[in-house]
Amino acid sequence: MNVAVPGSSLKPSSAMVDPFGRTITYLRVSVTDRCDLRCFYCMSEDMTFLPKSDLLSLEELDRLCSAFITRGVRKLRLTGGEPLVRRNVMSLVRSLSRHLKTGALDELTLTTNGSQLEKFAAELADCGVKRINVSLDTLDAAKFREITRWGDLNKVLAGIEAARTAGLKVKINAVALKGVNEDEVPSLMQWAHGKGMDLTLIEVMPMGEIGAGRIDQYVPLSMVRAKLSQQFTLTDLDETSGGPARYVRIGETGGKLGFITPLTHNFCESCNRVRITCTGTIHTCLGHEDASDLRKPLRASSDDALLNATIDRAIGLKPKGHDFIIDRRHDRPSVSRHMSVTGG
Ligand code: SAM
Ligand code: SF4
Repeated sequence: MNVAVPGSSLKPSSAMVDPFGRTITYLRVSVTDRCDLRCFYCMSEDMTFLPKSDLLSLEELDRLCSAFITRGVRKLRLTGGEPLVRRNVMSLVRSLSRHLKTGALDELTLTTNGSQLEKFAAELADCGVKRINVSLDTLDAAKFREITRWGDLNKVLAGIEAARTAGLKVKINAVALKGVNEDEVPSLMQWAHGKGMDLTLIEVMPMGEIGAGRIDQYVPLSMVRAKLSQQFTLTDLDETSGGPARYVRIGETGGKLGFITPLTHNFCESCNRVRITCTGTIHTCLGHEDASDLRKPLRASSDDALLNATIDRAIGLKPKGHDFIIDRRHDRPSVSRHMSVTGG
């Protein structure tokens, strides 16, 4: 795809700084709300997806991403839904990779469930993608099918191998789920570390109506960590990667383990990211209802002036911190949209 980016001849533009002094340098883009899996903590079984006509075209997504890059975004993550099920998504990846070549972008990456990686890993690497996150909550095929409602673990494992063969660095993300995979954390970690892959554990977040309460799913990672320390030597690492994860080195495996703990530890003070959806809505906080429409200004003019003014207004409303809470009195979604709208 050869995409001209009207109005963004990449002249230096003002940085995006929110009211709390946080500079936005990281953009996550959900390229589709659709997915080939139905993880029970992410989606309800009978999800209603957006009509295709509401979606930004790949050319519009490219223009939007490029506008953010002009405004100082250095890292771009494609996510979903499942990003690799969007038709022709590789043309978007290929087109965005021009910003890696010019040095305007430091990193182009994606978060995927891995099911389509066998098909796309080599091309991703060819486009300059260096690292990807693959979400995998269990190594037990039956449990995997239960969690994802119909997924095939072997397809994901083959996808991970294809990615490694293509030279992509893979990080595994796993959501800790009460009574489902909490006891499997040590073996999942040993498997990942054995293949030179880091593992990051994530607390389940109360996002979207999924037809079940969250209290039955939620395990505080402080408990997982306490259990792990009985079996392994955990050494805190200072590095933060600028994101919400805190890392430890595991003495016995030599690998790195991350904890993303929105519920038990608030990480908002250093947040450098915003998210856009496949319909061009910007969410400046994952754990807030805040939303501004960028599709209208994007379509209103081929010049980016109106778009930039709308981006500025949205960044000016970035909340100080998220609204997540799960306890006996708060078992309903804190945020009405599903995680698949914005991606992780
Ligand atoms: N389909 C891709 C995948 O699974 O990696 C990308 C989108 S998915 C929404 C991104 C991440 O969000 C995955 O790691 C998934 O496990 C996680 N996730 C989904 N719903 C979640 C929730 N309610 N709380 C915490 N993490 C969630
Ligand atoms: Fe699909 Fe990812 Fe949500 Fe699972 S977590 S249903 S793979 S979007």
